[in-house]
Amino acid sequence: MEFRREVEIAKIYVNGKIEENPVEIRFDPLTLQTSRIIKKSINLNFGGFEEEIESTRSWCPFCSERIENLAAREPIIMKSELWKRGEAIMFANLMPYSKFSLVLRVTEKHYLKLSEFKTEHFFDAFKLIQEFFSRLPEGKIYATIGMNYLKSAGSSIMHPHIQVLFSENSTDYFARLEWGAFSFAELNKKDFWMALVEEEKKNKERFIGTTEKTYWLATFAPKGFYHFMGIPEERNFVDMSDEQLIGLSKGITKILKFYERKGFNSFNFSIFCADRIGSSFRTNLQILARSPFGKYYWCDVFFTKMLQDESVTFFMPEDYAKELREIWEKL
Ligand SMILES: [Zn+2]
Repeated sequence: MEFRREVEIAKIYVNGKIEENPVEIRFDPLTLQTSRIIKKSINLNFGGFEEEIESTRSWCPFCSERIENLAAREPIIMKSELWKRGEAIMFANLMPYSKFSLVLRVTEKHYLKLSEFKTEHFFDAFKLIQEFFSRLPEGKIYATIGMNYLKSAGSSIMHPHIQVLFSENSTDYFARLEWGAFSFAELNKKDFWMALVEEEKKNKERFIGTTEKTYWLATFAPKGFYHFMGIPEERNFVDMSDEQLIGLSKGITKILKFYERKGFNSFNFSIFCADRIGSSFRTNLQILARSPFGKYYWCDVFFTKMLQDESVTFFMPEDYAKELREIWEKL
């Protein structure tokens, strides 16, 4: 497994002197996709958004008083019913992205600070997704679970919700992971993610800690701010034990608490499910923080990402891995 990095030094004349700025280009050990880390401090305070919380609450389709009337229904597996568990409610995505495309409203409350998300919020949602998944017809399917929280993470609706895509066709990145994982397993006779855990546990630079049956680490070539990965012991999503789902859910809440401490309020996560793909793949969860939402927020995805598929971030994985590792058990 190779952790390749290149460094370019940019010289700029500022405040009467020449300043040297290192730009680190890192290659993802599985996909070889590159990311750039610019070691500069940036201001992430974009102001409050109280009015936005109130105004969106007045029409929100996921708030309890409206969801029964407004939620689109899934007719084939769910027989046009809403599925509920705890605060989670599952229904069809009005904007479907794949053959089966679902939404889960995950909390009763319309807006939560990141530290207010609980293990049960994610656990209950994952249980409903498992139930749906187990009833899907046979055949290869790419299952993706994702979440955008707040506008700066791409969410049109503030109310916390998860999206699920079951598609006969992989997304572009999922295909890269699948191909990379297949090649890796052929050469190394084990799956990439377990090999990564072994490697990262040894050098400890990016290893964070564990939750029930789950390993957490900072990715070597981050795709955005504070990019972490959760790697479960149980390979397939559909038959994960409750203990395994608790491990994944608890890890998410710990990372969200960390984001809040660092001044963030917005995030994305995505779970790539190994089910029905082949034994070289392992379910994995990726999570990162997005530009904090506020009155004056800016989008952190610009031409480099949109058109060149090159991620840019301002934080060093080894630095924030150390910070999170030290407080992991207490979060
Ligand atoms: Zn709402």
